[in-house]
This record gives sequence, structure tokens and C-alpha cells, in this order.
Amino acid sequence: MTIERIIKKFAENHPGADTKLLAQAFEFANLAHEGQIRKNGEPYIQHPLHTAYILTEIKADLPTVMAGLLHDVPEDTKHTISEIKKRFGSEVAFLVQGVTKLGKIKYRGIERYRENLKKMFLAMASDLRVIFIKFCDRLNNLRTLENLPPEKQKRIAKETLEIYAPIAGMLGISRLKWQMEDICFKFLYPEEFHDLEYKYEVEKKVERNRFFQKIKSILTPKLDEAKIKYDIEVRFKHLYSIYLKMQDKGRPFNEIYDVFALRVIVENIDDCYQVLGLIHSLWKPKPNRFKDYIAVPKPNGYRSLHTTVFGPEGKAVEFQIRTREMHEESIYGLAAHWHYKSKRGQGIYQTPAWVKEIVDIQKEITSTSEFVKKIKLDIFRDRIFVFSPRGDAFELPEKATPIDFAYAVHTNIGNQAAGVIINEKVGRLDQELKNGDLVEIIIEKGRRFPDRDWLKFVKTKRARDLIKEYAKRSRLESFKRFIPGINK
Ligand code: MN
Repeated sequence: MTIERIIKKFAENHPGADTKLLAQAFEFANLAHEGQIRKNGEPYIQHPLHTAYILTEIKADLPTVMAGLLHDVPEDTKHTISEIKKRFGSEVAFLVQGVTKLGKIKYRGIERYRENLKKMFLAMASDLRVIFIKFCDRLNNLRTLENLPPEKQKRIAKETLEIYAPIAGMLGISRLKWQMEDICFKFLYPEEFHDLEYKYEVEKKVERNRFFQKIKSILTPKLDEAKIKYDIEVRFKHLYSIYLKMQDKGRPFNEIYDVFALRVIVENIDDCYQVLGLIHSLWKPKPNRFKDYIAVPKPNGYRSLHTTVFGPEGKAVEFQIRTREMHEESIYGLAAHWHYKSKRGQGIYQTPAWVKEIVDIQKEITSTSEFVKKIKLDIFRDRIFVFSPRGDAFELPEKATPIDFAYAVHTNIGNQAAGVIINEKVGRLDQELKNGDLVEIIIEKGRRFPDRDWLKFVKTKRARDLIKEYAKRSRLESFKRFIPGINK
């Protein structure tokens, strides 16, 4: 890797930016790391260079890429943070310090690792860019995993798969997520990986390409006729997600039909729906496979129309239809937001709600193993969006119930919940909500306390805590009624 490549890549996404600063950051880091060698025999500077390059790939801004180049300087060389601050300003120094504070993960046992994890979430709440640097640093370390003993390889891969990759997914950076996952997959399940790789890359490649040309040749005349401007891409699923699907459904590779999808990228949202109509007029849609993530985006911000149709030769084909902006967002996640928003001059992205939630949990729990268990339970579960009758969106964990929703809206709504209407039909208070549900809670006015039995099915910490608190008060009150003289 060279600094010239980084500068070229950076300038593609940020025309007119002052790339001299990148060259200066490189020169400083290069001198600082002079003489240091990595385990794979390369000069150490290759590691920060690769980290910075991955950052430019996810379209990071100038201070972030500079911090990527400098991220190991304070930890590994005689140069200090205050020196970096003097040379490159307080923003770059702040980011480098953030990464340094996270500590180098030295893989000294699981407790040490969890400590680092806790720091990671705190850093995330202060400035997400610190985490982006840490992710790119980790991805480059994964790519040089070959040089470590097998036991270490496995442990690092597992940690990445359990913690880093899901967080990248929650931040919507699918590009980093799947790259991490496939490398970890290779180290954790080498046989399965190579088997699948062979089937996927070699056996079926020709056949797949022929099939796609056929679909394209049917679809494109229709798009031209409708005067829609489009790009069509083939999207092959990455190996680890196919592997998960095979495990999940207990089916062999040749029965997993959605290993690829056709992506149609158009200019605006109206065109998205028009293309959807065109596709459905050409091929019959598969029931229950249509998803409108434009009207109801996924909690990580993902937007697209998805549909699976019975395509040519009776084979199922998945289509993903989206605008160029949605496409960028789907790959770069929050990183795309900083790109777009700073272009529009609206300042930087916001910290998502769940990041703040993690910080709250960690304040409450001091034992690190307990902490990891808790965030896995409350945060790493997929999130859904449900709507109130007024159209307000509420983010909840997957499998949340109307009671969780009621407490998310207001404590009193939770305490007085008596029934629920879901999508205009009568529902049950303990049933699982689905993404996009319209939920209306029916309340019993004047009631003050919740039902303790709700604890058996609620999924959110907020609902659980409030039910316990009010159930306690309710017991106390009936106790007072029972023995009138007490507490007087
Ligand atoms: Mn590093």
C-alpha cells in the first residue's frame, strides 16, 4: 500500500480537499514507525497505511483518514498525543487519542478483551469516527491473521464474529461487516469455507452468468421503453451469509436459491416503484417475499424494495430496487451519512439511540461478563420499528410485545394497558410485534398498576423495570390498606 493510492482514492470522494495533510500525516507516521517490523515481515507502516485505505473506501472524512495513518503512533513510538495535536490540530489528536484509549487488543484472555469492548462502546458514544478507525484497524489485522498460531486465530475470529461484525451491521456498514465475516468464517470453519467457496466460485459461475444475461435481456427493453435511467448489478451473497442460511434451513447449497440478487439502481423513488411494477408484470411475485424498506426502513437505516419472483425457467430471482443514494447508504451505512450530510452542509450524523442505550447499561453493570451478556440480549438482537396511530415510529428489539411498545410510548400507557389493536385487528398483549406494525394500545382509565404476569413475556429492560417498580408500589399500597395503622 502506498500513500499515493490513499490520496487518489480520497480525492475521488472529496474533490478539492487538501490532500497535502494526508501526505504530511504519512511522513510523520512513517518516520515514527521507522525500523519496526510486523509479524508478517512487512515494515510496520503498512498496517496504518492499509487502515487508512480501508477508511477511504468507506468514504471517511479527512481528519478520520489522517487519524487512521497516525493511530498507532502514541502507543508504539516515542511520539506523544500532544505532538500530534501541535502538528495536525485537536480534531485529529482527539480521534487518535480515542483509538489509543481503546487500547491495543492484545488477546490476553477473555476478561481483558471484554474490558476493551466496554471501552469501545464508551468511545462510540463520544465520536463514532473512533469506532470506524478501530473497525478498519481490526479488518487489516484480520487480513494478516495467517501469521498467528491457530489457537489465536480462532479466538480473534470468534470475537470478531460475535462483537465487531454485528456492530458494523448495526451501524449499517455492510461492506465492513461481510468482509470481517468471510475472513472469520475461513478461520473458524476452514473445511466448510473451502467447500462452499469451490461450489460457489467454480461450479456454478458459468451457469449463473448465463441466467443473469437472460433476465437482463428481458428486463432492459421494458426499462428503456418506460424511459427509466438504470444500472443493473448482480449481487452475489457473501459466503458466510450463505453458510448461515444453509444452517438455518438445514438445506444443502444447491437448494439455497437466493445466493444472488439483481440490483436495479434508479434515479428517484418514483422510479423504484415503477420498476417494481414492471418486474411484477413480467414475472409472478412469490407470496410474502415483497418488502418495502423504503416506506419502512430497517432500524439501521437500510432502504430498498425487495421482491422475489418466479423468473425465467421457473427459477426464483430476488430483485433489490433502490436509488443511488440508498445504494451508497446500504454499503457505507452511517459513513455514507457523514458523506452526504456534510455535502449538504448539515453537519455530522447523530449518534444512534442504541449506542446511548449501551452506555446506560454499562453504567449500571460493573461486572464485564455480565455486561457482555446483557448487551447481547438487549442490543445485538435485531431491531424493529413499529408505529403509533399518530404515525410516530418506535424502535424496539425483535420479538417485542405490545406491552414493550406501551411502555416505550409512556409509563401510564404501560400501566393502564388493557388491550391492543394491531394493524386494525384485535391482538394480544403478549404477541410478538413485527417490523412496520401499526399498534394502538387500549387503556383502562384510572387503573394505576400493571400486571406482574407481564414480566413473563416483556423483552425490553424499560418495560421490565417499570413493571417491577409499580408492582412493588401496588403491594405496598394494599399492605397499607390491610393494616390501616401502619406508616401513619
Ligand atoms: Mn493498529
